[in-house]
Amino acid sequence: MRTHIQLPRPVTDAYDWQLRSACRDVDTELFFSARRENPQQRQERQRLAKDICNSCPVLAQCRQYALSSGEEHGIWGAMTEADRRRALKSPVVDDVA
Ligand code: SF4
Repeated sequence: MRTHIQLPRPVTDAYDWQLRSACRDVDTELFFSARRENPQQRQERQRLAKDICNSCPVLAQCRQYALSSGEEHGIWGAMTEADRRRALKSPVVDDVA
């Protein structure tokens, strides 16, 4: 007789940080590139999105999620796609003496 059943971990536990995000009620177009967007528009959109991220109480969780999951698109944790690519390529420095 089986006395213990291993149930999968509730998915909401892993993502409930999103419920506290500063972008929860913001148009997602601010965080993801529009099809027709010139470089100045893109830069301004990214600046506005990063401003929201920088006041977000779950910035660290969001950034960690995006880096660990390989998010390819959008701004997560105040990082653009290019910011994440650079961060993932750069060597980790454990101790700076
Ligand atoms: S850090 Fe930015 S993208 Fe992430 S949840 Fe907060 S506001 Fe949204």
